[in-house]
Amino acid sequence: MKTGQEYRDSLRERKMKVYLKGELLDPVTLIDHPFIKGHVNSAAMTYDLAFDPQYEDLMTTTSSLTNQKINRFTCLHTGTDDLTKKVKMQRMISRKTGTCYQRCVGFDAANATFSVTYEMDQALGTDYHKRFVEFMKKWQDEDWMVAGAMTDPKGDRSKKPHEQEDPDLFVHVALKDDEGIYLRGAKMHMTGMVNSHYMMIMPTSGYGPEDADYAVCCALPTDAPGVTHIFGRQTNDNRKQYDGAVDQGNAEYGVVGGESLTVFEDVFVPWEHVFMCGEYQYSGMLVERFATFHRQNYGGCKGGVSDITIGAAAVIADMSGYAKAAHIKDKINEMIHLTETLWACSVACSAEGKALPAGNYYPDPLLANVGKHNVTKLIYDIDRLAQDVAGGIVATLPSEADLRSPEIGKFVEKYLKGVAGVDTEDRMRMLRLCEVMTGGVALVESMHGAGSPQAQKVMYSKLSNLETKKKDAMRIAGVDPEKYGK
Ligand code: SF4
Ligand code: FE
Repeated sequence: MKTGQEYRDSLRERKMKVYLKGELLDPVTLIDHPFIKGHVNSAAMTYDLAFDPQYEDLMTTTSSLTNQKINRFTCLHTGTDDLTKKVKMQRMISRKTGTCYQRCVGFDAANATFSVTYEMDQALGTDYHKRFVEFMKKWQDEDWMVAGAMTDPKGDRSKKPHEQEDPDLFVHVALKDDEGIYLRGAKMHMTGMVNSHYMMIMPTSGYGPEDADYAVCCALPTDAPGVTHIFGRQTNDNRKQYDGAVDQGNAEYGVVGGESLTVFEDVFVPWEHVFMCGEYQYSGMLVERFATFHRQNYGGCKGGVSDITIGAAAVIADMSGYAKAAHIKDKINEMIHLTETLWACSVACSAEGKALPAGNYYPDPLLANVGKHNVTKLIYDIDRLAQDVAGGIVATLPSEADLRSPEIGKFVEKYLKGVAGVDTEDRMRMLRLCEVMTGGVALVESMHGAGSPQAQKVMYSKLSNLETKKKDAMRIAGVDPEKYGK
């Protein structure tokens, strides 16, 4: 296993092409860039905590492939106990970082690909699973951080990949030869991509035969020749460049996952790292598996993030002198109720997990989808309540520079004072934390990360067995279901 420091050092060895605000970054120092370093610190937490004896049980496990001790973020789940430990680990880490630590995406891609390649080989006689197992062993040995790359740009959403005016709007195999395949296209919203060693490419949806070139799953280094990353902007990100830690709210770990747009210009991938190439019949299965593994997480990671939001709101109430007001207590309790509701689905879908044919365990897909769907709504409620408790000052607070100003600092100090004994700067820090926890990027990520709400609703009709519910209701009402062909 790597330590956080070894992880950082290994990132400096990459020859990555990353653009940020129109500038090409130096590959050695890009992880120190003010826009990027918080995300690196957050991901490094997933490495360092594996060496903390207090978290050994949550953060490490034994590889089912090599029998070696590995970081949990590289494991294939061997039971419901593993699935439950995964979400417990996520809630624990979120409480330390207050934000995304990005490493779950590749972790989920691993479990999805392991299972789908097995079933695909059984049915089609291909040999992808063996290749993937060999790759997975290296992944575990090297303790890589692997970005999961699923979402394509999609262009005109009413059209399938082959119907698009520009065929590159979905990642596809542009060419193949004896050595491997050549990828063209782009992936969007790539969490943790610029601080990962490898990426796992997966199809963005299920395809038919006419889109077989788009049914591709493979692994490649993030610095492979022909790959260009364009780092995304975030709300208030200039504060990271020009302002002090107070104004950033969460200066150490940033907010969300440092997403990027990643472009592939005929990028070569050797056959040994190709795990699906044209088997369109299995593209939908891979998407569903990955989505379920990733949606399982959201009550864990967002549960932990909401713990920090609740804490911030409660401290602000303490510092401002209204913590004892009945309506404030009520709002804090409501935030706790909503947070534990998110958490309940993550625990439940893990406990209800089942073994897949390949042998690794899969969370209950219906409950995992319900959990993620709850996040698209309840985080908005939790954040609304936090802003309600914190007050309008969250949106109107003067800057740290004003606080430090020799001329006007005294006014900021005097008029932003709360309860006696509380430093104005500390109160400002809590308010800025509340701002960043409940702001634009964090909310949008809750809505669309791991799939937009509609993607979960689509799964309900597939998984909830509506026909059985209809039959049961008819039987109880004294209506013969057979009369209606049920
Ligand atoms: Fe993990 Fe949550 Fe970040 Fe997704 S949003 S990578 S589940 S921490
Ligand atoms: Fe996410």
